Amino acid sequence: MTYAAETLPNAVQPRFPATGLFIAGQWRETEDSIDVVNPADGSVVASVAAGGTREAFEALDAAVAAQEAWRGWAPRARSALFYRAHALMQERAEDFARIMTLESGKPLTEARAEFNLSTDFLLWFTEQIAHLHGSYAPSSHGGFRIVTTHQPVGPCLLITPWNFPLLMIVRKAGAALAAGCTAIVKSAQETPLTAALFAEVLAEAGLPAGVLNLIHSRDASSVSAPLLRDPRLRKVSFTGSTRVGGILLEMGAANIVNSSLELGGDGPFVVLDDADIDQAVEHAIACKFRNAGQACVAANRIIVDRRVEPDFTEKFLARTRALKVGNGIGPVDVGPMITARQRDRLPATVAELTGAGGTLLTGGAAIDGPGNFFEPTVIRFDAPNDVACSNELFAPVATIFAVDGIEQAIRFANRTTFGLASYLFTGNLSRAVALAERLEFGMVGINRGIMADAAAPFGGTKASGLGREAGHGGIYEFLEEKYMALTVDDPLEAFA
Ligand code: NAD
Repeated sequence: MTYAAETLPNAVQPRFPATGLFIAGQWRETEDSIDVVNPADGSVVASVAAGGTREAFEALDAAVAAQEAWRGWAPRARSALFYRAHALMQERAEDFARIMTLESGKPLTEARAEFNLSTDFLLWFTEQIAHLHGSYAPSSHGGFRIVTTHQPVGPCLLITPWNFPLLMIVRKAGAALAAGCTAIVKSAQETPLTAALFAEVLAEAGLPAGVLNLIHSRDASSVSAPLLRDPRLRKVSFTGSTRVGGILLEMGAANIVNSSLELGGDGPFVVLDDADIDQAVEHAIACKFRNAGQACVAANRIIVDRRVEPDFTEKFLARTRALKVGNGIGPVDVGPMITARQRDRLPATVAELTGAGGTLLTGGAAIDGPGNFFEPTVIRFDAPNDVACSNELFAPVATIFAVDGIEQAIRFANRTTFGLASYLFTGNLSRAVALAERLEFGMVGINRGIMADAAAPFGGTKASGLGREAGHGGIYEFLEEKYMALTVDDPLEAFA
């Protein structure tokens, strides 16, 4: 397979990973391939092997074969391997960042930030491995004891999206492997190279063959459907759209496959009249336009108290107009949409919003030239509007809604089928706590527009998914609680 390295617009070339599938510790080519396209200019960055059902079963065979030995590793031995992987990742930090920019289009500064966050997550799981707990308790009526421990669920299928090519894989594979599970990663078709580089680093750190297997595929269901129907697969952990999450739940239903799902979002970004407006604007810009708006936790509806809305909108608009759009390898704020198809759906979205009463304040059109660029866009509504509810924009398109007071703000914020991230800006602490408790979302950023952290439980309610990633509980998504009833003939009872 080849790399079109000469198309890179910057002199510094990353060292690319192997382009094959990684199964049972071997990099393997196949007869099919996928071109990895740079969304900033349409050039082919690389071509990777593509697999299907046959390779999926081979990967499952390998994961099943490796499972028993891997779960038998002492926790300290597993964490030592993770520490090595963490150090090797640092050595290749710039390769990771540049490859992410080349295949996903995100600005290099964002790719570097994603790299740093991803290694934080790896370190978090590394530290957790030797800290798992069990319990010991008397039974309700005496006579025996209750002993609990946690055991790995078993071989897992991990499916990730392209929008955070490294973070999503580390958050899943880090937890799964730390817990003692083996895994098959199905990379996102658009960003297979980042996934391959991570697999390469783990192998170099000494991960035994078969513990992590990697499949790229142009037909995701040719991998997921057969595996989810094979009783040897014990878990699926998926990040992506709510639609596909539902399909996977259905596929796994017959075998009652343990499922963790991180799905779509409709993040309300609520600004109350006592908020620090400058702070709210800065956070709203980052929360909306990071990754060109292609984030599940992006601000989807910006809901602002009418008393401060003119000030907020004027400043937000000025900041939006100043954003530099372009190829992420250069000094830009906003990169391209991932595909031409994603960019081309946006004029209809803008028309839908303005047709429902929104006023277009800036942007609204695709940018001519190579690459899938779309103008940073702001649309203002003078009142809450259902057109935007449960409608994940996933684009550099911001909607602002003027609302009358707190009650209307919170009711409108909750008017969605999603429940992932929400945001609340206010200068009053007790108001913040009371309202945060009423927001029906898995996460609430209080005076913060970015809240990802390895120590925090990431996940959503309602159609945004099942389960939590990282934080104290994330690793337990890959473990099952085991109870042992222990008969105890208490010698003291004989004297009672
Ligand atoms: P998507 O659901 O189309 O694809 C995500 C992944 O699922 C890709 O790897 C894709 O190849 C795979 N996939 C698609 N169909 C499949 C099938 N039948 N079987 C197995 N795998 C299949 O989503 P997308 O458009 O790539 O990503 C955007 C969506 O992901 C948005 O809705 C976004 O909100 C969501 N997302 C959620 C989180 C979160 O943590 N909650 C994070 C990032 C993205």
